[in-house]
Amino acid sequence: MTRMKVAVLGLGIMGSGMARQLLAAGFEVAVWNRSADKAQPLADEGARIAASPADAGNGAAIVIAMLADDAVSRAVWTGEDGALAAMHEGAIALDSSTLTSGWVIELAALAEARGVRFLEAPVTGSRDQAAQGALRFLVGGAADVLEAARPVLDAMGSATVHLGPVGSGATVKLANNFLCGVQAASLAEALALFEKRGLNVEQAVSVLTEGAPASPLLKAVSRRMLDRAYDPHFFVPLMAKDLSYAGQALAEAGIPSAIAEAARKRFLDAAASGHGEQDIASIIEPLR
Ligand code: NAP
Repeated sequence: MTRMKVAVLGLGIMGSGMARQLLAAGFEVAVWNRSADKAQPLADEGARIAASPADAGNGAAIVIAMLADDAVSRAVWTGEDGALAAMHEGAIALDSSTLTSGWVIELAALAEARGVRFLEAPVTGSRDQAAQGALRFLVGGAADVLEAARPVLDAMGSATVHLGPVGSGATVKLANNFLCGVQAASLAEALALFEKRGLNVEQAVSVLTEGAPASPLLKAVSRRMLDRAYDPHFFVPLMAKDLSYAGQALAEAGIPSAIAEAARKRFLDAAASGHGEQDIASIIEPLR
């Protein structure tokens, strides 16, 4: 039986876990990453290292991107040696990066103009869920394209929510991270307050994590803040990017929000004071 050919563009924290799940599920996987060193471990597990996004896209039934932001997504799909121009008619371009709805709508049109089908499928879940095939895909696009892509999504995730046309996935993903970013920012301020007042910080935080504000994010991130454990699950600058995109979406809809921008400041301050390559939990450090 011939195996379905899938390509993964972007092998960061999330993309590497996703590619590994596709290999484990038996797909024929080509991988591409700007920094080639991240591709080698996947090649050792059976992936083909592609020389460029175009090389990865050529012959693939589905090409999945998991990249930093709008600008990188644009460059990798449509720039020199971009994937889109190399893809076959009827193949599926699927972007799982956290992007603006404006860009994914434009990208869908660029794909369609080339006879390539498009889905946006940003994810909830983080490093561990990507590594375990337990992501939740927030899909925007046509139902028949989703059905064609479903075997691949099922290999990388445990749930798929079809939210509507292209752009709706980005809207819900940005709202999700807006709430997560605001929680992490307010948690950092509260925890720093406990420390400055000389409280038993473990005890004080347990009131939050066992009380009304408790959420999976609050529980996980407060533990990392208390332990000063900043190995990255989610990099500080990427949350700043998401809060910027969320603020943009709110402004475009005519909804005034000071909250996204205020939370973003915590992440920008952390990045500016040397925590740009650490986990979002490190945003407490400039407050300590
Ligand atoms: P990451 O580890 O920083 O990976 C980012 C990827 O983008 C890497 O492959 C990186 O390549 C690539 N990239 C960055 N700048 C580039 C450029 N100028 N040209 C080409 N490639 C470039 O981040 P991640 O956590 O995997 O996140 C990937 C996406 O998923 C982001 O949109 C993020 O917001 C979203 N997301 C993350 C999480 C999470 O918890 N981590 C959860 C949900 C969604 P290099 O390796 O060469 O730098």
